[in-house]
Amino acid sequence: TTAASPLADLDTPALLAARDAFSAAYDELKEARLTLDLTRGKPSAEQLDLSNDLLHLPDGEHRDASGLDLRNYGGAEGLPELREMFSDALRVPVSRLLALGNSSLTLMHDTIVQALLHGVPGGDAPWSSRPISFLAPVPGYDRHFTICERYGIRLIPVPTNDDGPDVEAVASLLAADDSIKGMWCVPVYSNPTGAVYSEEVVRALVSLPAAPDFRLFWDNAYAVHHLTDERAEPIDVLALAAEAGNPDRPLIFASTSKVTYPGAGVAFVGASEANIGWYKHNLSAQSIGPDKINQLRHVRLLEDASGLAEHMEKHRAILAPKFDAVDRVFRERLTPWGAGAWTAPKGGYFVSLDVLEGAAARAVQLAKEAGIAVTPAGATFPYGDDPRDANIRIAPTFPPLGELTTALEGLCTAILLAEAETLLA
Ligand code: PLP
Repeated sequence: TTAASPLADLDTPALLAARDAFSAAYDELKEARLTLDLTRGKPSAEQLDLSNDLLHLPDGEHRDASGLDLRNYGGAEGLPELREMFSDALRVPVSRLLALGNSSLTLMHDTIVQALLHGVPGGDAPWSSRPISFLAPVPGYDRHFTICERYGIRLIPVPTNDDGPDVEAVASLLAADDSIKGMWCVPVYSNPTGAVYSEEVVRALVSLPAAPDFRLFWDNAYAVHHLTDERAEPIDVLALAAEAGNPDRPLIFASTSKVTYPGAGVAFVGASEANIGWYKHNLSAQSIGPDKINQLRHVRLLEDASGLAEHMEKHRAILAPKFDAVDRVFRERLTPWGAGAWTAPKGGYFVSLDVLEGAAARAVQLAKEAGIAVTPAGATFPYGDDPRDANIRIAPTFPPLGELTTALEGLCTAILLAEAETLLA
């Protein structure tokens, strides 16, 4: 199929001819019997190899800089050296940054459960004392939504712009509804759009009138995960919140899941003094201290903030060509037909693709039947419901470059066929 003008502009005979051509290409694709996967945002094996020194570190050592014996209980706040290393990138003072277990998602989940059971500083009752809701910028991260769905917290979608959530929409929702107790935020290289919140948006989010026990779940999962020289400058959300008179509003989360090993890394939580005191009090009933030996391994591997930055450059060298491939294949295959619009993120793990309204679920199904697994359409929306059925999340990091390109080509074939079918329906 050479062509082309936008599918949406074709008359019926031209559209039928295009559909037949796409259908033939799709049959050929199926005959190739591929098994490829574009679903989860995981590092590739080549990226994991960058951290293989973790497999022998800490080489018999067991003390931190202060001389504490890390083999034993204690050190509930985590290793000071590791907290120091991430303090600058996360813009959280070391004294209010805890290094804990292996997953930031667990910390977010537990924070919500503690708030439901006990309430948070500044609140006058546990969140569970009445029905509550969270704001969910869309498209967003499905696992955030899952936590709320699990505990019956209503999710209210909010549109996302290039510079973060739509502030006007947030303001009017907050003003009208004091049952809103939380908001999901991925402020840097958002999952899946790659949006980076501007300082103006951050200032608005920390200052808008809201319930005293309203919290921003500031999931800074991709703070150091740059893909270009245009690195997102960290924003000190805690200082801005304090300046606005709402010091307790942000709860900052992050982890080394995509720095070292997902599942065997270290997660962080940072917040105001009141929130950290609350968090530590809750934690004291849960644990007598984190895995400090793993934290020491991370200190020895990454050394300090500049060692961390160097390590992330090695990830970038592996990842940037994969993101370039997404842009190139979509440009070659979708642009001639006006068949999609996608983001070109400057960091993070995902590309967000919008196809013709009403065609996303069909495109994902066709891709799946041809052996190409793609994140289910709708997954980026609360309750799995994309009202436009248009958004598809692309996760290009895991497959080797050759396989990735084959999968993207196949996905485009499926998208074009789904769009032609949708227009003919
Ligand atoms: N937050 C975001 C925005 C993510 O995209 C992911 C993983 O994809 C996580 C959190 C998971 O973090 P962790 O491995 O620390 O639980």
